[in-house]
Amino acid sequence: MSTLIHGGTVVPGTGNTVVESGAVILRDGHVADVLERWDHDQAFDGEVIDASGCVVVPGLINSHVHGVTPGPLMPSGAPALPDDGWLANLDRHLLAGTTTVLNLCGFCTMDHVREADRRHAVHVRGATTYLPEAERAARMADGRGLPAQSGHSTVEKMLDDGAIAIGELGGGQTLGGGGQDLSYIPRAIERASGVRVHSAQARRMKEAVLGRFIDPEACDMAELRAAAAEAGLEGHIDLVELRKIIADSVLPSIEPALNGIREGVQAAARFGVPAIVHSAAATARVMRELMDGTPRAKAGGSRRPGAKASVIASHANHPSHTPAEALALAKLGRDHGWPAEVSVFDLLHRKQTVTTREHWDVLLQEPGLVDVLATDYGHEGHHDELISAVQDVAEHGYRSLAGAVAMATTAVTGLIPGIAPNGGRIEAGRDADVVVASAEDFRDVRFVFVGGVCVVRDGRLTPAARR
Ligand SMILES: [Zn+2]
Repeated sequence: MSTLIHGGTVVPGTGNTVVESGAVILRDGHVADVLERWDHDQAFDGEVIDASGCVVVPGLINSHVHGVTPGPLMPSGAPALPDDGWLANLDRHLLAGTTTVLNLCGFCTMDHVREADRRHAVHVRGATTYLPEAERAARMADGRGLPAQSGHSTVEKMLDDGAIAIGELGGGQTLGGGGQDLSYIPRAIERASGVRVHSAQARRMKEAVLGRFIDPEACDMAELRAAAAEAGLEGHIDLVELRKIIADSVLPSIEPALNGIREGVQAAARFGVPAIVHSAAATARVMRELMDGTPRAKAGGSRRPGAKASVIASHANHPSHTPAEALALAKLGRDHGWPAEVSVFDLLHRKQTVTTREHWDVLLQEPGLVDVLATDYGHEGHHDELISAVQDVAEHGYRSLAGAVAMATTAVTGLIPGIAPNGGRIEAGRDADVVVASAEDFRDVRFVFVGGVCVVRDGRLTPAARR
């Protein structure tokens, strides 16, 4: 099976070159050739795609996703999504030109990951958080998706079974973040008062009780009274009880979750695999502590002998930081060899969960500070598209087009070996994972090929997308 894609702006993903009006030939699952131009009179034995007005980029690699397997959801081990849910999430990734994802729901088993990988055209890779304290944190915050017995697996077993990274270490659900605001605090309040509050109300009350850095000393009862009234709780629940309900929902998992981050970073150094740490106001202190003290991986004990395990600060642009805090922490990370990933969440278009792009801009405009782009998880999986993040970075002049594409392709394969060993580039011999998208609006993805097979055609999934 052969395909010729010609006339588009080919961005090979190497970080510096762009071939205007180039041509790409896919054959037998691989990129057969990349040409400077294609002579229209030339015959071609196979499908011919006219990509004029389009960019042609490697299938994007998203190193921070959730909800893409039939296993426990999020770092809190919540119940798995139904089949339709995780498959739809993978559909959305594929329709937006992402052909490889790293599942950061670290309590999935590799069987869950392999099932997702088998049933969908997107390559699904696995990371793990089977660490004693991380699991304890999950069970305290939620854990309903986990096996009844703890200690079901270990990082070592998971790596032996094919996991390629440790993460996500920490998360909003276990660290008093957005997951608490969205579900756990409203549920606890509803049980006690019969009133359902929404997430913004829950967050305001949480911050009244615990401050922005989750500190019980920071409680402000006058602010809690005002927040409770605004949430319609007056007369339904006593303020002292409300304070206790919120603290009891948030606090128990915090200490084990922070310990889980320490365990995970140590394990990453021991095994020589990358770790992905949830960067947020709640983890800033432990990140600083670990940056100072991270032992380097020892050759011999490492899966990549001689390699230094990288610890990736995930969503360095997390909105729980102030922009200045985010910048200071990312710079400190750079000084300590911690690469930074920024997550687009839904800050470009949908703006339901993240309404400001200030942190995004502050970090990206700093030359060389951010290494990788990812999505994380927007409301019910409706995050903005990774490919739109690539376009945004290029259009704001933070990187060249080639550099922006590299942030979602080769920069990722560089930091996380094993995520797409033969992908991330359009060059002869590489896997034929290739995307054709409108140069005007990258979200207008016309074609996606995975292993040379057309899985998105004219913006729609083909039957080959799900198997
Ligand atoms: Zn995440």
